[in-house]
Amino acid sequence: VSDTCLFCRIVAKEVPATVVHETGTTLAFRDIGPKAPVHVLVIPKGHHANVADLAGADPALAGEVLAAVGEVARAEGLADGYRVIFNTGPHGGQEVGHVHAHVLGGASLGPMLCR
Ligand code: AMP
Ligand code: ZN
Repeated sequence: VSDTCLFCRIVAKEVPATVVHETGTTLAFRDIGPKAPVHVLVIPKGHHANVADLAGADPALAGEVLAAVGEVARAEGLADGYRVIFNTGPHGGQEVGHVHAHVLGGASLGPMLCR
């Protein structure tokens, strides 16, 4: 998988990323094309295609990703709130097939800002 999946390659340190949070099972790094003042991606280190597949295969890991989202928000100073998005599939605008939570914040976000 790491040969073909961009985010597996980031986990393997084969592709550089600006890591802001890491646990044994999760990694968080800055989005290369930020859509908000703070835009961090939180992923499980293991490969799962999307959030539903992740939750089905490993619900504990899904919980760890969500806990990491909270840690990132705290560390990034998003006390006034933020948005968490899991784009899923073609109609959802998912471009990378390794589940990732977008954590967007640092400004009041418009109602339709979704990616
Ligand atoms: P999605 O469209 O939900 O699959 O989101 C993929 C996200 O990955 C986009 O917001 C991209 O800007 C971001 N992205 C793509 N390549 C990289 C990279 N090498 N490092 C960090 N973020 C990336
Ligand atoms: Zn992957």
